[in-house]
Amino acid sequence: MQAADAVVVGGGPAGLSAALYLARYNREVLVFDTGHGRSTHHQTNHNYLGFPGGIPTVDLRKLGREQLGRYPGARIARHLITHAEGDAERGFTVRSQGHSWRARTLVLATGVLKHLPHFAVRSPAA
Ligand SMILES: Cc1cc2nc3c(=O)[nH]c(=O)nc-3n(C[C@H](O)[C@H](O)[C@H](O)COP(=O)(O)OP(=O)(O)OC[C@H]3O[C@@H](n4cnc5c(N)ncnc54)[C@H](O)[C@@H]3O)c2cc1C
Repeated sequence: MQAADAVVVGGGPAGLSAALYLARYNREVLVFDTGHGRSTHHQTNHNYLGFPGGIPTVDLRKLGREQLGRYPGARIARHLITHAEGDAERGFTVRSQGHSWRARTLVLATGVLKHLPHFAVRSPAA
């Protein structure tokens, strides 16, 4: 089982920001991200400091990953975390594809997804 100081589940703006802070405080941080969130849609996000004209979220993610990549203690893995357990006293364990990782800190930054209802479309009655 591999270990890190902190595990972050989710590599969108929230997860990358959390990981950046942890890495800057010299924590060994492991980010798991499958790359399917609100910030992978083609859209421009506004109201972010430093981007007065807004920024496409895919570009924001790219910049965030590059910024995090400057810290040797930070790694990003493209795994779907399917299980997480533990507490602040015992530490946390996360699992994916038969592998386990341990960490003292666990950050869940998985975002939200829309689950749209299925509409049946009928042509007008003749
Ligand atoms: C059309 C549109 C316009 C928007 N406009 C704005 C705007 O103008 N300003 C603004 O601030 N916001 C805007 N938003 C919202 C913004 O995109 C979200 O608030 C932002 O992306 C949330 O970031 P996040 O990191 O919380 O989640 P996400 O961007 O959803 O990222 C979560 C990440 O976690 C990963 N993940 C989830 N579960 C797991 C798991 N179990 N294991 C591994 N990885 C996992 C996903 O693959 C994903 O990459 C807009 C959204 C949409 C759809």
